[in-house]
Amino acid sequence: MPESVLKTLQNDLLDYRGCGVSVLEMSHRSSEFAQIAEKAEQNLRTLLSVPDEYSVLFMQGGASAQFALCVHNLDVKGSVAYANTGYWSKKAMNVAQPLTRVKEVTQCISDPLQRIPDSHSWVDADTASFIHITDNETIDGIVFKKVPEVSVPLVVDMSSSILSQPVDISRYGLIYAGAQKNIGPAGITVLIIRNDLLERSAANSLPPVFSYWATAAADSMLNTPPTFAWYAAGLVFEWLLERGGLAAVAAQNEQQAQRLYSVIDEHEMFINTVHPENRSRMNIPFALSDDTLTQRFLANAKQQGFIGLKGHKSIGGLRASLYNAVPDESVDALVSYLNGFAREHA
Ligand code: PMP
Repeated sequence: MPESVLKTLQNDLLDYRGCGVSVLEMSHRSSEFAQIAEKAEQNLRTLLSVPDEYSVLFMQGGASAQFALCVHNLDVKGSVAYANTGYWSKKAMNVAQPLTRVKEVTQCISDPLQRIPDSHSWVDADTASFIHITDNETIDGIVFKKVPEVSVPLVVDMSSSILSQPVDISRYGLIYAGAQKNIGPAGITVLIIRNDLLERSAANSLPPVFSYWATAAADSMLNTPPTFAWYAAGLVFEWLLERGGLAAVAAQNEQQAQRLYSVIDEHEMFINTVHPENRSRMNIPFALSDDTLTQRFLANAKQQGFIGLKGHKSIGGLRASLYNAVPDESVDALVSYLNGFAREHA
């Protein structure tokens, strides 16, 4: 999270702007919280230019809950389709498997670099209720650079790429994202849903807190929402607006990612296996050509203050995550650490 946001949270922690209680203590029905919630939604709408015919929902259960809830709420035809582009899309597909008929429309190819096939070559999914994609595969470092062109609504897991660049919302039926990357603390999940899809979920018999329709009808306050996470997310939205919005944020993200990829490409000892067409700007997985050096790489990195460079347990290796709050100085430091390590072990 941005340091300035953490400082505001610290400053407001005991007494939210003179009202005598902390946001941690305040009722979600209070006028103070109503304002916090409303402002957060408005700022999110401004940042992403959300069209009027889309609703914004705040739910709980993280992106993982949405793997099932998008099927329960939106599958009216008894069939959903998935682009299987990595760890998280596979996981979403596995969750859907016992709930409905699941069709895989595509998967990444390695020739030898990993690439997402163009959507025109995907297996036909006209009969599916929707096609689910994972915009940015957080573990594999694979991103869609173009929105797929498909004939049924697109449901997208944007957990690790939301707010990293401007998005044409009108190309999607549903966008969902767990908060804990570019939005704020874990505990709140953001959904942006086209209203005709929202209406699809009106007839379901789901418990209200799992129903998109019921959640929207209650302004995402059917029960006590994660108030502090909602408030913190609102501060992040303000911070992004102050930085000039998502075009400015995207330019910085692109520059940071390119700097890191060019060091990785420059030295033979670093390997990234993703095709440039699908390289993520948020998560850059890489490995050392001599894996016996990985532990030393991590130990030295830790000594120098780098945290979280170990790759996900499912694929090992290393990973640098460049979420919005990462400042340029951190990227400078990592670039110089990589160059130094490569020289030392060449
Ligand atoms: N989808 C993606 C793309 C993710 O990166 C993650 C978490 N890293 C998840 C889903 C799961 O999110 P949650 O922990 O919020 O359920």
